[in-house]
Amino acid sequence: MIKLKSPSQIQAMEEAGRLSAKALRIVGETIEPGISTMELDACAERVIRSEGGIPAFKGYDGFPGSICCSINDMIVHGIPRDDYFVHEGDVVSIDTGAIVDGWVGDNAQTYACGEIPNDVKHLLEVTEQAMWNGISQAIVGNHLGDIGHAVERTAKDAKFKVIKYLVGHGVGRDMHEDPMVPNYGKAGDGLQLVEGLVIAIEPMFTMKSAKMVQCKDGWGIKAKDHRPSAHFERTIAITTDGPKILTKE
Ligand code: MG
Repeated sequence: MIKLKSPSQIQAMEEAGRLSAKALRIVGETIEPGISTMELDACAERVIRSEGGIPAFKGYDGFPGSICCSINDMIVHGIPRDDYFVHEGDVVSIDTGAIVDGWVGDNAQTYACGEIPNDVKHLLEVTEQAMWNGISQAIVGNHLGDIGHAVERTAKDAKFKVIKYLVGHGVGRDMHEDPMVPNYGKAGDGLQLVEGLVIAIEPMFTMKSAKMVQCKDGWGIKAKDHRPSAHFERTIAITTDGPKILTKE
């Protein structure tokens, strides 16, 4: 069931969004060679709790971390570990969520640790651009298919692959609400977008193959060919003034 949000509810969600974005930025600034992914997790949790928020991922369906930290070929849902250290040249996808006054913010960014190869840099740039292209279609009267089409088109033009098994979602008092927001589709297809719809748009791209494998921990999802992947996400509200980014400082 889709739960539309009133303007005052969207305003309340901006606070959860702001704190999610702050945690994401600070974790990004903290990434350096030798730091463990558990230290990045602790950093996010500290930022979120210092302003009275609750890490949205902690305990979600039993997830042990405050963030998802997915490195290189791991696409999403990496569990932070105290025995995994970031290396120069890694691409590090960080997904943070904060709950404030019962509302959730959810966003993600893939960071490069130091220098990375040009083709991987291109993957990161294209995936982020796809997210913005999708967001630009999140306007009243458009359809979910317009968002998915814009994202998929961006991947195809650059010859990257869309992970279709994983999708964006509605956001509200629950982190994952209806509707599902696929990163593919046909323009004009699917649910019509209306004022008050709040969704997370989150393209996940790989370089050559969209085949995935589930890690033994039951959470992490990796590219089967072990090539790098990228993931970018923002929570946005659809308003009569256009898409409003909620996960921003
Ligand atoms: Mg999400």
